[in-house]
Amino acid sequence: MTGTLTIVGLGPGDPRYLTVDADAALRGAEAVYGYKAYLDRVPARPLQVYYPSDNREEGTRAAAAIDHAARGANVAIVSGGDPGVFAMAAAVCEAIEHGPESWRALDIAIIPGITAMLAVAARIGAPLGHDFCALSLSDNLKPWDLIERRLDAAASAGFVIALYNPVSRARPWQFGKAIARLRQHLPPATPVIFGRAVGRPGESVEVVTLGAAGKTSADMATLVIVGSRDTRIIERRGRSPLVYTPRALAEVSA
Ligand code: SAH
Repeated sequence: MTGTLTIVGLGPGDPRYLTVDADAALRGAEAVYGYKAYLDRVPARPLQVYYPSDNREEGTRAAAAIDHAARGANVAIVSGGDPGVFAMAAAVCEAIEHGPESWRALDIAIIPGITAMLAVAARIGAPLGHDFCALSLSDNLKPWDLIERRLDAAASAGFVIALYNPVSRARPWQFGKAIARLRQHLPPATPVIFGRAVGRPGESVEVVTLGAAGKTSADMATLVIVGSRDTRIIERRGRSPLVYTPRALAEVSA
């Protein structure tokens, strides 16, 4: 007997960002697995059982949820934002690739959510209006040297860069180093957006220059968008600025 495993994106925070599909998937689940801060966002349902785990235990959590579903239950596993962006959908795929053959027979559905870079971008204009990439600054799962090479490549190729996981308690210096690295490729006036806890109580969105970005504080709930040479700021009297990257580029600008 096999059940189903649904990997659900919760969006950036507030329940209004939960899609109708995600809400339905959560309603239908008997058991919900996830990082405890994300499980707190799941609306409580009668008879539903919750399996909280720590942030770093993604592999073990994925295996436990798969095993539970393989024993016949209708199981959901949740991620903040989108489950396919630095999150649980890849952890589940890794577990299935390396796990018992029987896990491949499981019904799996992945329900997308609004990822942090889209939520932050929408608050401030259209910084992702032209080519962009997303990079996680966490060196827990890849070497720092590779991160630096990717920052060099992305900035010199003219991509706007969304930086996930800029800082954590265990990674205090990486963000400053990344900004210093990007300054080797981009002018000090390049716009940099710090979106913190967007879609949650106490959210903030701040626009600074790349020159000042190293001194701006970021934390685990911050998504940073570093503009390209083409990204522009429209100042507006009495209103927050609009930051955008034009759709059309006349020539190679990197
Ligand atoms: N799957 C998530 C990303 C997980 S990585 C998604 O699609 O959004 C965790 C990182 O995402 C955080 O360190 C932060 O950089 C970013 N993040 C997640 N939620 C956020 C929010 N509400 N506001 C700003 N950044 C957020």
